[in-house]
Amino acid sequence: MTKLYEHGTLAMLMDGMMDGTMTLADLMTHGDTGIGTLTGTNGELTILDGEVYHAKSDGEVVHITDLTVATPFSSVHFNEPTVMLAFDVVDAQSLTAHLGDHDLANVFSGIKLHGTFQHIHVRVAKEQSQPYPSLLDVAEGQAEFQARDITGTLVGYYAPEIFAGPTTAGWHIHFISDDKQFAGHVLDFYASQLKGSLQIFDDFVQHLPVDNQSFRKMKQNMNGLKENIAKSEGGHH
Ligand SMILES: [Zn+2]
Repeated sequence: MTKLYEHGTLAMLMDGMMDGTMTLADLMTHGDTGIGTLTGTNGELTILDGEVYHAKSDGEVVHITDLTVATPFSSVHFNEPTVMLAFDVVDAQSLTAHLGDHDLANVFSGIKLHGTFQHIHVRVAKEQSQPYPSLLDVAEGQAEFQARDITGTLVGYYAPEIFAGPTTAGWHIHFISDDKQFAGHVLDFYASQLKGSLQIFDDFVQHLPVDNQSFRKMKQNMNGLKENIAKSEGGHH
């Protein structure tokens, strides 16, 4: 029995609910591997081997040691591989196609894959301040970075189409280099000798910030929610 634990929803971010509502310390009690963001969609988090790395929109990557900082939206799990995977050469599109061979359409799953990236293209969300905009506006102003000939790890999740709203439907993948100097939300890559694992989750735990009064009072806009999430989180479906 393995579970995927998610704090907050992507739908909340779409409507500007971007205050951190769970400390990283609390989040990490539910997993040692994952992805997320900080208050105000400040950058992209990659959680690897129990450590949190924060890719910032200026390109810097910080190892977060003060786990009292909070996240509005993050997903974590304990790494317990279901299937081991290895690819000689693979890009973002062919990886998704290969993963599709494992009949993942209706299940939550995760990947952790390490290899050499001849090319990788990531984006990093910029920190927003109050009053927070829609995530759609954040996506338009995101920073993008590219690297060549770099070794590193992909960490990401797949969610079935019916969960577009709580999270991104399809794949949502982050990258962190071995030297922890380059990281972000993956848009595209070309890699070789990519090895690691696929994990299929029996359980999906959706945790909500029930003590946050703005969340309790917010009116979620459902119009075009699915399309807007695809627009702001798209890049590898
Ligand atoms: Zn991301």
